[in-house]
Amino acid sequence: MGIVRQVGLVILGISFFTFIALFGHVPRLRSTPIGWINRFMWGILPRWLSYLDRRFTGGYIGPLVSGVGKYLMHEKHPVVMAFYLTLVSGGLYMFVKDGWQYLPLIHKIFVPVVGILPYITMYHAANSDPGFVTPENHERALRSYPYDHVNFRPGVICRTCHLRKPARSKHCSTCKHCIAKHDHHCVVWINNCVGQLNIRHFIFFLGATDVLLTYGVYLTFDILQNVFMHRAVIPSNVPLSSLPWSIYMHLLGIIIVEEIYIGAVFLLASLTGILSYAFTIYHLYLIWAGTTTNETMKWSDWQDDIKNGDILIAEPEEDPPCAEDSEYDEDELCRHWPKRTTQLFYRRDPENAIDLPRGFLWRRVESLSEIDNVYDLGWSKNFEDVFWPQKL
Ligand SMILES: [Zn+2]
Ligand SMILES: [Zn+2]
Repeated sequence: MGIVRQVGLVILGISFFTFIALFGHVPRLRSTPIGWINRFMWGILPRWLSYLDRRFTGGYIGPLVSGVGKYLMHEKHPVVMAFYLTLVSGGLYMFVKDGWQYLPLIHKIFVPVVGILPYITMYHAANSDPGFVTPENHERALRSYPYDHVNFRPGVICRTCHLRKPARSKHCSTCKHCIAKHDHHCVVWINNCVGQLNIRHFIFFLGATDVLLTYGVYLTFDILQNVFMHRAVIPSNVPLSSLPWSIYMHLLGIIIVEEIYIGAVFLLASLTGILSYAFTIYHLYLIWAGTTTNETMKWSDWQDDIKNGDILIAEPEEDPPCAEDSEYDEDELCRHWPKRTTQLFYRRDPENAIDLPRGFLWRRVESLSEIDNVYDLGWSKNFEDVFWPQKL
């Protein structure tokens, strides 16, 4: 039981800190303990470690660690992907080795199907075009979405690709391309960017992982329960539900140790499942809200400025003239996109060289919800835009 508890705690701890590292920057979590630990992990802790390194080794370890970190986070490599595949393959192997004998026929048919799905969907997501913006498809990429004049303004040229950046795109330094409707570069799983053309493949992959883990928890728990009853750990006339929670967990721990492979798969699937579900729910939430991971970062900057009272808004009745890029005829290019906004913004900032434009009624923005998101067409259209994306 001691070992089981320790292994369980280690897996839970890794899942928990991975969750904080990846989601702590999300606007909703920024002012919570999760956001504080995230800032500690990415901001204060590296500074402390670098200070200790300079103090005790003369700065020997820092460059090595940052070299490895840079390689892992900013280069295309299959290291993390291989780690994931090893976990899934190891889990499946352990399950089949000891659990196959207990399975009824119907599950013997389903297990291979559910087991193979993460591999197929991962292959698809990893090898799909996320929406590379090239000179050939640049015109079509410009037509996909209108500029919202909040997070995306016309007339910005990518310094690497030398192309006008389409609305919602971002240059990925790992893929060395601008990516249409850039979501994020996924180092953890698919070693590829997630963008306009392959967000759906990424969601299918997350879904397949969730199904595998849920099915794994269900089957391993069922097997452990049966072993529980068969070995007569408790008298047969005592229903399991009548046992106190602490005794139940203690007995479960004993069975996990006895059926160590099944027990390990149960622990692995249930504890990493939390992380996998968190990812899926987060991405479904982003789609529902008509935004992307990349845009969430931008929105959270807006939220900070709004909190400081630095954002002013004007809402003229008619479209303001687009002065930023006279070559770009927005209405002509994005006629198909149904949503527009007339909102104007001004950021109060000592470095802002532009004076507050006259002729408008300005007021302070109190909350992010006052700003129109032109990319949010309502949840059903948002999902449609992800699962039947505009072609490039
Ligand atoms: Zn670029
Ligand atoms: Zn990328």
